[in-house]
Amino acid sequence: MLTQGTIGGVRVQPAEGTTVTITLAVANQKGGVAKTTTVASLGAALTELGYKVLLVDLDPQACLTFSLGIDPDALELSVHDVLLGRVPAAMALQQTDDGVTLLPAAIDLTGSEARLVTRVGREFALRDALAEISADFDWVLLDCSPSLGILTLNALTAADTVLVPLQCETLSHRGVGQLLETIDEVRKRTNQELDVVGILPTLFDGRTTHARAVLADVAIRYSVPVLEPPVPKSVRFAEAPAVGRSILTTAPTSRGAEAYRVHARQLVASMGRSRGR
Ligand code: ADP
Ligand code: MG
Repeated sequence: MLTQGTIGGVRVQPAEGTTVTITLAVANQKGGVAKTTTVASLGAALTELGYKVLLVDLDPQACLTFSLGIDPDALELSVHDVLLGRVPAAMALQQTDDGVTLLPAAIDLTGSEARLVTRVGREFALRDALAEISADFDWVLLDCSPSLGILTLNALTAADTVLVPLQCETLSHRGVGQLLETIDEVRKRTNQELDVVGILPTLFDGRTTHARAVLADVAIRYSVPVLEPPVPKSVRFAEAPAVGRSILTTAPTSRGAEAYRVHARQLVASMGRSRGR
């Protein structure tokens, strides 16, 4: 049972008989670290647990949208129109075969960055847009683009907490410090309560001692939890987006799918969520 206050560093203020929505930004300005894969897989895992999940594609390359079986080029409305205040978020939502709801991206999101930059309150566009619909969802997962630009600042401003996927390779930690500094700035300016769940090791090759050494180094270097278990490297992850589903559907018993299920359960536990629907 949730009570008013802070659980796991996350704001919770449920009214009697209602549940709280938790908004999680998956961010790392490095590309190819499995942000999009993590959003799709965690979204599917949380859906399996019975939660209502909204995924938001904030990358102009629209990989999340595409990987969930929706053609970004065929969309009439996308998160771009929502961020610019042209339509309410509810109008741009898409249902996916994976069971999650998606606020999709299209290539015109590149244009949103340029337009948003000139606006007053530009960091708050996403937060304001999501405020109208987030009560319909238990979890909102934000797939950030590989930059620390205005779209990522919007995600960090709208989020309760941040998950940082990290590929276990030499020098992969470079950039984590910069991301954590950005998170500190966001706390000072636009989102005082922003929390960090931790670093999620991805593309992990357990056969090498090197990957473990990288993780140990990251754990010492930054005072942020490194989450267990690492998500194993597997070709199964490459297969899933091609058919518009997550790995939880295409390879449900694979170690990769299991790892994301564990993380979904841990997120639920650490956020103190009880299933309220
Ligand atoms: P990002 O969103 O950070 O750019 P993606 O999620 O698009 O990263 O992943 C980059 C590539 O790595 C994709 O081709 C994806 O299928 C692949 N990938 C992601 N996670 C794994 C994994 N655990 N094992 C193998 N390949 C993976
Ligand atoms: Mg991506």
